[in-house]
Amino acid sequence: MNVAVIGGGYAGMAAAVTLAGRGTPVTVFEAARTLGGRARRVEYRDTALDNGLHILVGAYGETLRLMREVGADPERLLLRLPLTWRIHGRFSLAAARLPAPLHLLAGLATARGAPLAERLAAARFMLRMRRQGYVLPQDMTVASLLESQSQSARMTRLLWQPLCVSALNTPPRAASAQVFLNVLRDGLDAGRAASDLLLPRADLSRLFPEPAAEYVTAHGGSVLTGQRVTAIDESGGGFSVRCASGEQTFTHVICALPPYHAGAFLVGISALAEAAEAVECLAYQPIYSVYLGYPPAVRLPHPMLGFDNALLQWAFDRGALSGQHGVIGSVISAEGPHQDLAQEELGRLVHQELRQQLGMLPEPLWCRVIAEKRATFACTPGLRRPASRTPLRNFLLAGDYVASDYPGTLESAVRSGIGAARVILGTA
Ligand SMILES: Cc1cc2nc3c(=O)[nH]c(=O)nc-3n(C[C@H](O)[C@H](O)[C@H](O)COP(=O)(O)OP(=O)(O)OC[C@H]3O[C@@H](n4cnc5c(N)ncnc54)[C@H](O)[C@@H]3O)c2cc1C
Repeated sequence: MNVAVIGGGYAGMAAAVTLAGRGTPVTVFEAARTLGGRARRVEYRDTALDNGLHILVGAYGETLRLMREVGADPERLLLRLPLTWRIHGRFSLAAARLPAPLHLLAGLATARGAPLAERLAAARFMLRMRRQGYVLPQDMTVASLLESQSQSARMTRLLWQPLCVSALNTPPRAASAQVFLNVLRDGLDAGRAASDLLLPRADLSRLFPEPAAEYVTAHGGSVLTGQRVTAIDESGGGFSVRCASGEQTFTHVICALPPYHAGAFLVGISALAEAAEAVECLAYQPIYSVYLGYPPAVRLPHPMLGFDNALLQWAFDRGALSGQHGVIGSVISAEGPHQDLAQEELGRLVHQELRQQLGMLPEPLWCRVIAEKRATFACTPGLRRPASRTPLRNFLLAGDYVASDYPGTLESAVRSGIGAARVILGTA
């Protein structure tokens, strides 16, 4: 048995680690020079930025487990903060030191920035969803669900909407309420630690994909970067994989490409027509990351801070997180009018907003905007996502878009990679 893993993002590297750890020969093909895909390091002016600012949560059990397995210590590489929800000057909620879901309910009871009646309505909504096992008889949009549950406009704007956009990268009017409830179930009601926020202290390639590559190599596998696969063909009961450096044959393939690249390989193989069609039907949502480099003394009042009625949703203090003093990273998730702005203009507006909200700020020394136009699939109600197992024997799909309970996240990518590897190992 020898396995080709196509794509060295979190899904592909999770698959490769799982296989290599069991002594299965594995080769990873990654087109880029840097591992990590949609969660990777981007160098700018000698500063290691990320293509996107990422938040992990305590519920990312499989990501944390694999990080430990490859020697990337989560305690060192992630800043763990008990759930706190701070929308600057408007709302703050801190989970209490109580078992879930009491930690959240008590947090809602003591939150500041909304009348008690509205906070209690939010608590009642959580309890009602809990009673029905976080399952809806029929999927709908998050906006419809919140409306049917009498959530106030204020709690929607300050809590549910930012939570929905952060987790599903899809606006509430278009987002799947069932997937949102899955996130509430596993993030807010599965033990207090599950809701902890985990903020990266290292760049996203160093967080997992690079130590994973070292682990795979140490266990006899290969990780080839700068190797764009150009064709995957059935050949003699297995598969031939072609890239610039030549052609190799494998017994199994795990296709861990982003959905918008996987489609091109799937359409060529008739047994994969259904998967190709499901991938073709996916729509995407963007995420913009705006980095502003200020003098080193500039810092935010908290490592992560939310904003209401602003262009940006979250800002991160890279000084507090990873020692990049003066670097403030801002996130704008999901679609919006900001997509029409030139990058320079967007940087200028984000700086203006930070200054308005936080008070005096010097002019930034530099600005870098990274627009990921297809950051994740649009997580809409009743979405049909392709399964990992395909009708083609020994050809599996992995990636954040593969059918699961979760939206497009690091954890769904990692789980899909582990799942595909386990099918091959016969331990699924
Ligand atoms: C800006 C941004 C912010 C995000 N924020 C969060 C967050 O806060 N929390 C969270 O959990 N998730 C977040 N996500 C989502 C998360 O990054 C993705 O769900 C996850 O990285 C997807 O991993 P993947 O392995 O499925 O796909 P990818 O990361 O896309 O990996 C696929 C790999 O395949 C490679 N490839 C493509 N074509 C070829 C080819 N022909 N040959 C070889 N290799 C090829 C690509 O280079 C890539 O490395 C964010 C995403 C973005 C873009």
